Amino acid sequence: MITFSGVTKRYPDGTTAVDNLDLEIEAESFTVFVGPSGCGKTTSMRMINRMITPTKGTITVGGRDIADVDAVKLRLGIGYVIQGAGLLPHRTVVDNVATVPVLKGDSRRSARKAALAVLERVGLDPALASRYPGQLSGGQQQRVGVARALAADPPILLMDEPFSAVDPLVREDLQAEMQRLQAEMRKTIVFVTHDIDEAIKLGDRVAVFGPGGRLQQYDTPDTVLSVPANDFVASFVGRDRGYRGLSFRTADQVPLHTIRTATEKEVPELTLEHGDWALVVTDTGVPTGWIDGIGVERARAGRPISECTAAGGSLFTPGADLRQALDAAISSPAGIGVAVDADGTVAGGILGAEVIAKLAEQRAAEDRMRSELHLSCEATSTDRP
Ligand code: ADP
Ligand code: MG
Repeated sequence: MITFSGVTKRYPDGTTAVDNLDLEIEAESFTVFVGPSGCGKTTSMRMINRMITPTKGTITVGGRDIADVDAVKLRLGIGYVIQGAGLLPHRTVVDNVATVPVLKGDSRRSARKAALAVLERVGLDPALASRYPGQLSGGQQQRVGVARALAADPPILLMDEPFSAVDPLVREDLQAEMQRLQAEMRKTIVFVTHDIDEAIKLGDRVAVFGPGGRLQQYDTPDTVLSVPANDFVASFVGRDRGYRGLSFRTADQVPLHTIRTATEKEVPELTLEHGDWALVVTDTGVPTGWIDGIGVERARAGRPISECTAAGGSLFTPGADLRQALDAAISSPAGIGVAVDADGTVAGGILGAEVIAKLAEQRAAEDRMRSELHLSCEATSTDRP
């Protein structure tokens, strides 16, 4: 268990980053610190491993005041993951992961062996172990960051916005991976994010921080959503609530339309009116970008296709929800979203207006169900003697 008792941090310039924080974090729980930027999340987290010293108050880990614990020893029991992974660029992936076990006194050989096992555990191909961080994608680097934090098997894991810099699909993968890992390992995890969706998805408990570094609410995600403690929390969790609600709705019935496609070779032959777009696909039908008349002219002039296309929007994948359907539609430069099959090939196009229409249909069906339920309840209650 980690406890904060009356913890305040004031920086020398007078900024109160954390104001009188009282918090009990249960062992083996996943706790998320969430709130807008500048409200003291990082400062609170870094006080746990003594990277920052409180101005006032006490923090205990496992019942011991951390002020009395040697900082280096303390940190050996606390894994730390940051945005961008913070890997050492001149060390291979496996040596990055083996860093802390070697510091702890393990032999390099056994630390490397253990590192390979941890890499596999976080879903990384062991073939990547001998690469350097710069040779990995952002998502892969982030996995290495998690592996490195886990390598010495610390009971506590601190994660500061670890997935904020990767694109949304990769972020979802990484979030799912964290859920899987936590189910297996049961660490005490403290996770910082400014994204309420991420907080709700991952947290057993969510601590909402607000202006002046003051804790606003500490509850289960359900309670934070349904019974916000004050106006600040209500407006913070309510932002984009309608849009977020779409993610709980099925998009099975959203119609798919034919999209005009062209392979790279076919691009020069395209005739596109002003405002028309075609989707450029690989020979196997995987989308690579959108092109309009201006792009076609450039391609005819011999420019590489990648310089003639506009980036595609987000893709709608099989089984996805109405939020993804709408996002695909509104993020596409062509005004029509791209749905793909499981193999990544184009399945059809999605229109934003039809996503909204589907939402209205689902709501109407729910209203009908509610009134039928209401009527049948009335009938039962009048049946009674
Ligand atoms: P968050 O992680 O929620 O974005 P931080 O804990 O990083 O917030 O910062 C809280 C407040 O403390 C902010 O106003 C920030 O500008 C300030 N702050 C952070 N670090 C320092 C520092 N080293 N010196 C002075 N002020 C700081
Ligand atoms: Mg921060």
